[in-house]
Amino acid sequence: MGSLPAYDTLPTPHDPPLTAIVIGAGLGGCAAAIALHHHGHRVLCVLDKVRVFGRLGDSLGLGQNAFDLLEKWGCDVEEIKRIGNQAPNMTIRRWHDGKPLATQPLMDMAGYIGHRGDYHDVFLSWVRNRGIDIRMGSEVVAFEDTYPQPSITLKSGDILHADIIVAADGIKSLARPLVLGSKDDPKSSGYACYRAFFKPTAAQRADDFLNKYMRDGDCVNFWIGPDLHLVQNTLRGGEEFNWIITHKDDGDVPESWFQEGDMNEVRRLVQTLDPEIRGIVTATEHCLDWKICYREPLCTWVSPISHRIVLLGDSCHAHLPTSAQGASQAVESAGVLAVCLNQIEDRSEVRVATKAYEKLRFPRTRASQTNGEDLRDRWHGALKGEGERQIDPESVKIRNRWLYAFDAEEDAVGRWGEVRRVVDEELKSGVVKPLC
Ligand SMILES: Cc1cc2nc3c(=O)[nH]c(=O)nc-3n(C[C@H](O)[C@H](O)[C@H](O)COP(=O)(O)OP(=O)(O)OC[C@H]3O[C@@H](n4cnc5c(N)ncnc54)[C@H](O)[C@@H]3O)c2cc1C
Repeated sequence: MGSLPAYDTLPTPHDPPLTAIVIGAGLGGCAAAIALHHHGHRVLCVLDKVRVFGRLGDSLGLGQNAFDLLEKWGCDVEEIKRIGNQAPNMTIRRWHDGKPLATQPLMDMAGYIGHRGDYHDVFLSWVRNRGIDIRMGSEVVAFEDTYPQPSITLKSGDILHADIIVAADGIKSLARPLVLGSKDDPKSSGYACYRAFFKPTAAQRADDFLNKYMRDGDCVNFWIGPDLHLVQNTLRGGEEFNWIITHKDDGDVPESWFQEGDMNEVRRLVQTLDPEIRGIVTATEHCLDWKICYREPLCTWVSPISHRIVLLGDSCHAHLPTSAQGASQAVESAGVLAVCLNQIEDRSEVRVATKAYEKLRFPRTRASQTNGEDLRDRWHGALKGEGERQIDPESVKIRNRWLYAFDAEEDAVGRWGEVRRVVDEELKSGVVKPLC
């Protein structure tokens, strides 16, 4: 292997530096490893149970709030921007005829929409370029919430210790029941998504009935109707095509990224859809059926005894697709955790840092989550009993801009003193206020 590029890391007050293990090498886990490394902590390893990552998922958005942090940590965000959807605008349309209801810059929503697998590859390369060890096929099966160092046990039987263990292990997190002290079952959001991602065939591209949204490079469109909506976007200049239909769900689809969907059911759902997009949807051969599950907001993100096992990303703040902020909020959480660990002077105070981290992050992630719920509800309600009523374009626009001009690290440093006082008081009295 050639020599790795050098990355500047910030000074840490801890000598030797705090050690960290990150569980999960998804976008959240990669961001955590990069942020901890940037702030001078020692990342012992990033563990993932998967042996090899495939190009999993489909479209995912990253906002400016995430890019600004990644850039500060020395990541070349142009690598992401280059492979994202290049359309300047997106259009919100009426379900049955495609009439444009509102057009706004793509920046108002996702920032950059790209393939999750492609973005993930870039994140993984950033971690590896820093010399951080990513251990694939390493499944964590147990936790010991012990002081001063918690530990984890791998399926192989190996036991690993660190000053802090970051559980970025996704929506079905194994660490979450440990942190909560009980199992929290997924709660149906009442909706599910059919989603498909494919390269249209040459015949489909040549067919004027199917190709309306494959003609001029990248595009992003939404069709909204009563209690359902369809998102369409392209990638690689129109070479790849993605559609996602969010619809009412009263069935028992398992919570999975890999559940095969029923195209006959999709064809039934889109019978009333604008014919100019319906053609390519009904011509699709396969789709996935993804039940959108909620987790109730958690009362804590930190383990109860050592306070040194912390949740991050989807394990504690999963988002609806309409928020387009799941990965970006995980990046913010990574920055805040890394910063908090440098506000304490001694490693015996790690619990002060982790308790401050959850207090600093919780309100912001809730606001971002509910922003996605608000958009879904506005879209699904906009055309109910529409008749000849005019739709106010503002009422269906995406309202994500306020999330972008925010430096999560700067906010954490600015509010540190105030939050630390609360945490100190709670730890002294033993009366810890739950996050919700
Ligand atoms: C397969 C898949 C497809 C997705 N597709 C999309 C999509 O198309 N669009 C979108 O917006 N979002 C998608 N997401 C969600 C999106 O990636 C996340 O919302 C966001 O990136 C934050 O992710 P995270 O890192 O917190 O969790 P995740 O992306 O879920 O990553 C968690 C990681 O932890 C690993 N892991 C879990 N348990 C263990 C364990 N016990 N031991 C070791 N490792 C463990 C998993 O293998 C996984 O790699 C997808 C997630 C997954 C897992």
